[in-house]
Amino acid sequence: MLDPKDWAAFRNLSHAALDDALDYLERVRDRPVWQEMPDEIVKRLRGPLPQDPTPIGDVYDEFVASIMPYNSGNIHPRFFGWVQGTGTPTGMLADMLASAMNSNVGGRNHGAVHVERAVIAWFLRLFAFPENGSGVLTTGTSSANLIAVLVARTRALGVEARTTGVDPTQGRLTGYASSATHGCVRRAFEVAGLGSASLRVLPTDSLHRIDPGALARAIAEDRSAGHRPFMIVGNAGTVDVGAIDPLDELAEIARREGVWYHVDGAFGAAAMMSPVLAPRLRGIERADSIAFDFHKWLQVPYDAGCLLVRDGELHRATFASSPSYLTRMSRGLASAQPWFTDFTLDLSRGFRALKVWFTIKEFGARAIGEAIEENVRQARLLGELIDADADLELLAPVQLNIVCFRYRFRGSDEAVTDSFNDELVIRLQESGDAVVSSTTVSGHRALRICIVNQRTRDDDLTYTLDAIKRLAAAFPASQST
Ligand SMILES: *Cc1c(COP(=O)(O)O)cnc(C)c1O
Repeated sequence: MLDPKDWAAFRNLSHAALDDALDYLERVRDRPVWQEMPDEIVKRLRGPLPQDPTPIGDVYDEFVASIMPYNSGNIHPRFFGWVQGTGTPTGMLADMLASAMNSNVGGRNHGAVHVERAVIAWFLRLFAFPENGSGVLTTGTSSANLIAVLVARTRALGVEARTTGVDPTQGRLTGYASSATHGCVRRAFEVAGLGSASLRVLPTDSLHRIDPGALARAIAEDRSAGHRPFMIVGNAGTVDVGAIDPLDELAEIARREGVWYHVDGAFGAAAMMSPVLAPRLRGIERADSIAFDFHKWLQVPYDAGCLLVRDGELHRATFASSPSYLTRMSRGLASAQPWFTDFTLDLSRGFRALKVWFTIKEFGARAIGEAIEENVRQARLLGELIDADADLELLAPVQLNIVCFRYRFRGSDEAVTDSFNDELVIRLQESGDAVVSSTTVSGHRALRICIVNQRTRDDDLTYTLDAIKRLAAAFPASQST
């Protein structure tokens, strides 16, 4: 009923669309990084629910004219805002093919399930996890972190907690993470019913890494206050400056204390693909669970994250259920247990693993690791350029792929300097020349350049610094410097 009436015409349109999409990617460098969608287009999009058909060619033309130019910019070589991957043309192709198969990967016995299992097995091995560990592809690290908190809760309270919920009179389950930890970990504690007050936020050292001594003291204090320490979250690449917590020391503390050890490696865990960088993550292999994203430094298109769990049985016990409409069989389509729905919140799930499989097969882990090393080298180079520039000031040591700095606004107080730098970030985005984001580092507002970009060349970095300096000089208030 909804398939093309005229397959030949649909085929022609599809071929043209594929060519347009490839042109769009091949020529991404020639376009502004970002431009705001005009108000009249936003208004037009908000029309009533279409009751009558529109020829597919007209729908496509509207997409090309009114939607495609207003990309968030992360596919561009000069996009350095937040932590966002570019993707690859291969990922685009795989996404299209996955939609053709339109598999529901909640479970059952079919190809997509076996591909997801194969991808998980690759990564269990990469992180030196046991073969009987478990894993599941997620929308991203936010949901992977949430699943990890839920599995850790199961370990602390037993599967009965699925029925009884969390009883705070039995001692508060407390988790531990540094102040540089991503906000989604706090949210996971809220959503898991533990309350964000149960996440102890610990201080960091001058390199923005957790202080293991403070962690051990906090655990001891909480125990004597009658709380129940149950989880440590370490960072493999903090979102603000790219710091790596002392993962091996955290593993030691977790083992000694008998608590769950989770690593948030959203982007940084990808450094395991590089033999040069992997030693910096020493200790990650001792974690009970690791969350990371394919859609950041592994350059798979959105969305694709992953959770790996050492104790696969505990992971399953946290989610598995067996309603009669999902009865498993020993043969046929309803076989191939366990199902992915036994490891996550979703029943219906897309074939996310295909774009991961295509990407890693095509390039190989080595080349992806080299692209990651290249970004780390570029961040170091950028740090050196900023250090050598009297107008600019680094606000944190460059440890991985993130550079936080500000424009020196001589003779002004901190508040003026802060708002000047925020304005600079906005003006740079509006110029379309480059995108960087803002953050606060050691109490100062910073321009933050995060390079998870396989398209960036060194001259994109100098171009971006020049654009920042040009905008700063043209800023009326800067004449007082
Ligand atoms: C991006 C990021 C997250 C959140 O991951 P999503 O895939 O965006 O949900 C969590 N932790 C860190 C360190 C991140 O960089």
